[in-house]
Amino acid sequence: SKTFISNGIQADFTIVVAITDPSKGRAGVSLLIVEDGMEGYTKAAPLKKVGLKAQDTAELSFENVKVPAENLLGEEGAGFGYLRTNLAQERVSIAVGSIATSRRAFDLVYKHSQERKTFGNRLVDHQAYRWELAKMATEIQSAQSFVDAAVAAKVKGELDETTASMAKYLTTELQIKVVNTAVQLHGGYGFMLEYPIATHYLDSRVQPIYGGPNEIMLEIISRKLAKGEK
Ligand SMILES: Cc1cc2nc3c(=O)[nH]c(=O)nc-3n(C[C@H](O)[C@H](O)[C@H](O)COP(=O)(O)OP(=O)(O)OC[C@H]3O[C@@H](n4cnc5c(N)ncnc54)[C@H](O)[C@@H]3O)c2cc1C
Repeated sequence: SKTFISNGIQADFTIVVAITDPSKGRAGVSLLIVEDGMEGYTKAAPLKKVGLKAQDTAELSFENVKVPAENLLGEEGAGFGYLRTNLAQERVSIAVGSIATSRRAFDLVYKHSQERKTFGNRLVDHQAYRWELAKMATEIQSAQSFVDAAVAAKVKGELDETTASMAKYLTTELQIKVVNTAVQLHGGYGFMLEYPIATHYLDSRVQPIYGGPNEIMLEIISRKLAKGEK
């Protein structure tokens, strides 16, 4: 079985990473297409999550499923290599999403800071308040530059695993920080689901967890360092 599969309930087929030859280690891993309706392939009801309520997350079970040879995706035994390439792309797309959400959170809090008044002034007129906005804007802009470079590398076919892991780590940690600060700067309104920043707060928490948790990103980045490479 495999738990936590995004859009698993809606999917018509699933790409399963399977060990097709246990004697070969990584070279014994292949990608198989398992289709809805195949005997032994079942899906549990959507899991109940803290956030991302619009997307289903499923638990899939495989009980002696017979997969025809034509459902092999790519070459037999090449699955691990395909994952390494495509996981880098997945990590950069998570980074793009994180930057987008951070910018959205900034926009929301910026708007709020112009509309809400305390002690006779707009929130943005309080120096300590707008310094928080300045820190957010600076950190978002610098992370965006890194992600833009990673996307450009991907387009040229030059994106490496380390850069993709750095992008995912940097931007998802930043998203948590930015969204959390944006909630704080909304005051009590930030805790109300009527305000979109509250939904971003709930949806953001998973970013450092999925796509490979950030601890594993640090592991990928630091492996090179252990080998004496920078
Ligand atoms: C909403 C959602 C959607 C998801 N969608 C998909 C999907 O579509 N497809 C898919 O394949 N997966 C999906 N996942 C799974 C997701 O990728 C995993 O949850 C994630 O990789 C962490 O694995 P785990 O949950 O088994 O945690 P564990 O591996 O049990 O980790 C628990 C904690 O221990 C830490 N840890 C584990 N090993 C080490 C280590 N070696 N060194 C240091 N720390 C370590 C982790 O970083 C984490 O903090 C999804 C998960 C969620 C929550």
